[in-house]
Amino acid sequence: MSRFFSSDYAALTPYTPGEQPRIENLIKLNTNESPFPPSPHAMEYAREATKTLQLYSDPTANALHAALAARLGVSSDEVLATNGSDEILNFAFMAFCDREHGAAFADLTYGFYPVFAQLNGIPYTEIPVAEDFSIRPQDYFGLEKTIFLANPNAPTGLFLPKSDVVRILEENRDSVVVVDEAYVDFGGESCVDLIHSYDNLLVTQTFSKSRSMAGARLGFGVGCRALIRDLNTIKYSTNPYNVNTMTMAAGIGALEDEAYTRANCAAIIENRAYAAAELRGLGFDMTDSKTNFLFARHSVLDGETVYRELRARGILVRHFSLARIRDYNRITVGSRTQMEALVAALREIVGGNV
Ligand code: PMP
Repeated sequence: MSRFFSSDYAALTPYTPGEQPRIENLIKLNTNESPFPPSPHAMEYAREATKTLQLYSDPTANALHAALAARLGVSSDEVLATNGSDEILNFAFMAFCDREHGAAFADLTYGFYPVFAQLNGIPYTEIPVAEDFSIRPQDYFGLEKTIFLANPNAPTGLFLPKSDVVRILEENRDSVVVVDEAYVDFGGESCVDLIHSYDNLLVTQTFSKSRSMAGARLGFGVGCRALIRDLNTIKYSTNPYNVNTMTMAAGIGALEDEAYTRANCAAIIENRAYAAAELRGLGFDMTDSKTNFLFARHSVLDGETVYRELRARGILVRHFSLARIRDYNRITVGSRTQMEALVAALREIVGGNV
C-alpha cells in the first residue's frame, strides 16, 4: 500500500477472481464460462461495430435496451445495461444501501457482495444458509435491509422457488430486494415478470454464462422505472459510457439468436445430468444444481486433494477454503468431451476410494 492510499479503503479485501491461466490444453472448469463460442450474429455485429470506434459508445444504450426490453416483455426504461452484472450489483449497493439501511445476504453466496458492501462503507449481515445449503425465506422477513439473493445461488447451485422470492418481497415492502439471476437460464425460473407487481424488486442478469459473452462484459438490471432512474443516476455519476460499442452490438446479435442460446443451455443441462450421474458413481455427492456448475464433495477424499489432483491432470476447478465448504469443489459444466475428460480423471484420482 502506498502512503497515498485512502484510509477509506485501507482495510478492503478485494474480490479474488478465479484463475485465468493461459496453459495449453487446459480444461478450464473454474469460472463458469460457456464452452461454446458466442453466437455468430453476436460476433458479426461486434466486428461491424469496430468501424465506429472513433466515437463514444451510446450512453443511452437505446438500441440494446430496446432489444432487451422486447426479449423480456418490459419497457425500455425498465432496463439498464452495464459492464457485466457485477457493475449493476455495485450500482445497487450504491443506490439502495447506506450506513443506516445496510445490506443482507446469505453467508454462502456470491463472494463479491461483501466486497461491494465494504467498498461502499455499507454495513452488512450474512444470513447462514441451512445445513443442506438451502435458503430459508423466513430468515429474510422484515429485515429493513437491502437484500441480495443469488437465485440460483452460487456456489451451491440451489434454486429458491419463485413463490419463496415472492414471500421475501411481500415481507420487505420498504426495502429493495435484488435477485441476481446470473444462472437462471440453466433451470431456474426468472422473477423478471414480477417487476410490475413489486416496486422493490431489481432483477439482474448477465450475458456471461448462457450467452457465452463473459469477455464482452455485459449485464443488466430490470426493475420499475423509479429504481432504474436511480441506477442511472449512479451510472451517469461514474461512467456514462459503461458499455462499449462492440459489446452493445454483440449483445443485440445474441438477443436476435435466441435459438442458439436455448440450444446451448439445453446442451449444458444434458451434460450436467451426465456428469452428475458419473460423479455419483465415483463416490461424490452434490447439490441439485440448477446452474452451469456442480458443487460436489467426495465421500473419502478432501476437496483440496480433488482440486490438486485434477489440476495435475490439466483440469482446473474452483476450490474455496471457507471451512464449511472446504470439502467441495465447484465444477463448471462444459462440453460433453470436457465432461468425459473430467470423469476419466476423477476415476483415476478416486481409484479404490469409492
Ligand atoms: N452473480 C453471480 C452469482 C456470479 O456468479 C457472477 C459471476 N461470477 C456474477 C454475478 C457476475 O457476472 P458478470 O459480471 O460476468 O455478469
